[in-house]
Amino acid sequence: MTVTQPTALAAAATDLTKVYGTGETQVIALDEVSVGFRRAEYTAIMGPSGSGKSTLMHCMAGLDSITAGSVRLGDVELSSLSDKQLTLLRREKVGFVFQSFNLLPTLNALENITLPMDIAGTRPDRAWLDHVIEIVGLGDRLKHRPSELSGGQQQRVACARALASRPQIIFADEPTGNLDSRSGAEVLGFLRTSVDDTGQTIVMVTHDPNAASYADRVIFLADGRIVDEMFDPTSGLVLERMKRFEAARVL
Ligand code: ADP
Repeated sequence: MTVTQPTALAAAATDLTKVYGTGETQVIALDEVSVGFRRAEYTAIMGPSGSGKSTLMHCMAGLDSITAGSVRLGDVELSSLSDKQLTLLRREKVGFVFQSFNLLPTLNALENITLPMDIAGTRPDRAWLDHVIEIVGLGDRLKHRPSELSGGQQQRVACARALASRPQIIFADEPTGNLDSRSGAEVLGFLRTSVDDTGQTIVMVTHDPNAASYADRVIFLADGRIVDEMFDPTSGLVLERMKRFEAARVL
């Protein structure tokens, strides 16, 4: 299935194929996937374990090489870049949020938030930074180190870090996987706010129908292919669709 390819895309894959290994151990993780991610849209990627969700995200973010097809971030075709150019593009245009927070333990919250910009040698836009800190509700925790923060607060720091440089796109890999449901709902809530209020583009891998319900659309993967797409999802509709795919797989 090829998903509609409108114009204002923050990122797009065309006939993206990713094969791991060779010969008998070869795995086709992605099989000619074509998908576009519109600007200011929040997309959830769902599918059973092993369906290619992480591989799709890693290939789209330029973290993994591709076997065939193409990936574009904005107007830039990733295969046209050297390793150095790719690193720079990732640093400047892409934000990441991982399940495991990935904060530096020796830095306080504010230092963690501005770290990518410090590495890139760019100055944070102070008004924007204040706005991001306000969205994620971290104002009184900025001097705390990760070990002095709860899991939910650490993930807020990670989200603020991703948002701070106003990246073209944010890739979030199970961002609520390590959080209790209340903290998870908060994190999902301000990811949603960043899309609605600031036009941020977000692509989020999740297993959780409730998390997916915060997105504008859901893409369903199975065996390395996009098998369905849903707009304006509710957790009930997503759950129903997942059950139908499960049934189709075992019957
Ligand atoms: P998901 O994120 O949906 O669980 P993945 O993208 O991690 O799926 O994996 C898709 C397929 O590719 C799986 O069959 C997995 O075993 C395989 N795979 C993923 N990464 C590697 C790797 N580094 N080497 C070999 N096979 C891999």
